[in-house]
Amino acid sequence: MKWYAPVSIRQIALGFIGSLLAMMILIAGFAAYQTHNVTLGLEQANHEAARSELAAAVERLLRRTENQAEKLSHWDETRQQLVLPEYYPYWRDQRVYESGMLPSRFIRTVLYTASGKLLASSPREHRFPAGLPAGVVPHEPTSWLVNDDGTIAMYQSFPVYSDEGRQTLLGVGLLRLNFLPELLRQADFRFVNKDSVGLALKANASIPASQLLSQLSFNARSNPDQFRFQTILSRTLLALFVLLTAAALVGFFIYNRLLVRPLGWLSQEIDAMQQGHSSHPLSRARPMRITELENIRRSLYNYQLQLRDLHGSLEHQNREFHSQARQDALTGSHNRRAYEEDWTRFRKELKAAPQGAAYLLFDCDRFKTINDTYGHAKGDRVLTIIANALTMALRANDRLYRLGGDEFATFLSNTTPIQAKQIAQRCQSLIDAAHFDDLEIREPIGVSIGIAFCPAENVEQADELPKQADIAMYTAKQPGRSRIALFGEDTERASQTLVASRETSALFQALATPGMVEMHYQPIFSLPGRKVDYYEALARIRHRGELLMPDAFLPVISSRRLETEFDMAVLHQIDADISSQQLPPGMGISINISAQSISRPEVISHLMELSRHNVRHPLMLEITETSLITQMNEVSTYLELLHTANFRIAMDDFGTGYSPLRYLVDLPVDVVKFDISLVNKLAEDNRAGQVVADFARMMGEVGYSLVAEGVETEVVLQKVESLGIAHAQGFLLGRPVPLVILAATLAEQDAVSSVS
Ligand code: C2E
Ligand code: MG
Ligand code: MG
Repeated sequence: MKWYAPVSIRQIALGFIGSLLAMMILIAGFAAYQTHNVTLGLEQANHEAARSELAAAVERLLRRTENQAEKLSHWDETRQQLVLPEYYPYWRDQRVYESGMLPSRFIRTVLYTASGKLLASSPREHRFPAGLPAGVVPHEPTSWLVNDDGTIAMYQSFPVYSDEGRQTLLGVGLLRLNFLPELLRQADFRFVNKDSVGLALKANASIPASQLLSQLSFNARSNPDQFRFQTILSRTLLALFVLLTAAALVGFFIYNRLLVRPLGWLSQEIDAMQQGHSSHPLSRARPMRITELENIRRSLYNYQLQLRDLHGSLEHQNREFHSQARQDALTGSHNRRAYEEDWTRFRKELKAAPQGAAYLLFDCDRFKTINDTYGHAKGDRVLTIIANALTMALRANDRLYRLGGDEFATFLSNTTPIQAKQIAQRCQSLIDAAHFDDLEIREPIGVSIGIAFCPAENVEQADELPKQADIAMYTAKQPGRSRIALFGEDTERASQTLVASRETSALFQALATPGMVEMHYQPIFSLPGRKVDYYEALARIRHRGELLMPDAFLPVISSRRLETEFDMAVLHQIDADISSQQLPPGMGISINISAQSISRPEVISHLMELSRHNVRHPLMLEITETSLITQMNEVSTYLELLHTANFRIAMDDFGTGYSPLRYLVDLPVDVVKFDISLVNKLAEDNRAGQVVADFARMMGEVGYSLVAEGVETEVVLQKVESLGIAHAQGFLLGRPVPLVILAATLAEQDAVSSVS
């Protein structure tokens, strides 16, 4: 399809006016041309009429002159003059006029003898030639015209005979008259302009009267009707032109006012509406004068109103979405996304206007147990009640954010450590006072709160607040702590050992560098034969020639939640140790795994991979920190899976932490390792020792294989043996040693036994 550039209606109007004017000019030109033709025709006709009029006048004059000559020719007195010219001057000057033969004295007559001689001359007839002109035939009447010194004279000759029988020629008469005056006196000329009549004759030249008409020059009188016609026509055309031009200009102005401008304005308004900055001018605008445009304006206005309504409702929805997007669906507190945005803004504002700020981290105690034991629905209710209580406890402008799971946070501006602690205490009080009764949860529900504070003069360290609050939280969670800890004050020891310590850097380096985590192996003896049954792999970090023990780096791991990373590093190292084949076949290895790692797929898959060694080296997993198991079902499932891969499962450090008995019941455990604190009690001859002894016996009876940890003395070992505990581990029997030393010792023992 051919594309045409759009044309504005103003251009169309201008084009229309232009073509109107052009058409008018054409019509005017055509009219002028036609008028000219008509005028020419009229002039022609006029000229013809003038010519006819003049010819008739000439004819009349000639006839009259001929008649006069004829009459004179037959008059007796004329003959008489030629016979007896005595009173010829009288006859010539008086008689011809008085007798009426000639009408006026402007016509003169003279007579010539038959021989052509002028009869008698007088000074008055000096204009007549002295003899008959050469061309005059005496018998023939002849007429001609002569330029007599500027006067056009007409001559008419006539023969004079002696009788009527025309026998004898007596002479020749000659009439002379002043041609032009005589001609013009003839009549009232209607068509001929008298003043223009002339005869072009050279001085003394003559022409016969028959050629007269062709030599006469004249102008026709201008026709007044024609002039009037031309005037009327030109005035009409001019008036038409002026009128049309004025009409076109007025039309253009009106067209512009009523159509072009409103249309332009409407189009601007639509553009403004599209760009969203129209301030309802459609409603304010005066109604348009053109019905169709007014209809468009109204439609647009209605449309604009609809758009505004739509815009309003969209904005409302948008706000809703925005707040929903920032809200935690379960508890109604702010969600993680809101937290990220607000925390960034909070730090910025803090740096712009320094003031004391605090960061509070809340973590529900034993929530995962509650969730697991009483179901998610109750867990959700607990979280909601906690969130409500926390929101109520916070100041009006402080916001509570749910960071995930059972963890909440808030940041307080313009505060002091004391105020922050007071707020934390209020939080705990409100939660303690909250009603969880209808949930029928037996365990006490509470939150631990980690607080980090940064003073106004130190706001650039505000970025550290979440990490510090996390460490404070770790402190708050420690058994025997008050459940509220302020970073710095309550975590002084932790801050020294956990945050900036060489242990921290050693740990991070070890996690990033394979081989830095070193495994030491401590024998576990079977009783009562006291033979090494298997070895427990215990991790150390070799850092700058020094050996870091678990009690140095484990707190860092747990405060940084690096359990999984650490366990992965340990598994790698054990895999490497076994693969190095320095250990004799059949030697079992017990591996420590923190409870949190058991539900991590990467750890499980690594363990499954490690299970390939099970044939040469029976493997056992010691689950440490069982009190931190939250997803009981999940962990149980994974442990079952590991069971099927021939791992034995041991519960480590039995006798410490919270409710280990429950875990014992719920988890597929084969071995229970009695913690050193319990084992030491065995040697005591008191009720505690008795309880532990009875408990150990009972557990053995129900099928658990027991290991006594931390056996340091012979007394304890004997007690352990007497109780029928299957295994013992302790410095008394053997300390943890590096793989090379173990391998060397074993090789040595092997050599000794083979010799003996
Ligand atoms: P655990 O698993 O109960 O390991 C036994 C701890 O008791 C070891 O300390 C061991 O050296 C120590 N021990 C053994 N016999 C005696 C004794 O007669 N007297 C005393 N006082 N202590 C004795 P270690 O190696 O310092 O490990 C401490 C804890 O660190 C371990 O306790 C275990 O919970 C954790 N751990 C050690 N290695 C690893 C590891 O590779 N992975 C994980 N997740 N945890 C580990
Ligand atoms: Mg252990
Ligand atoms: Mg232990």
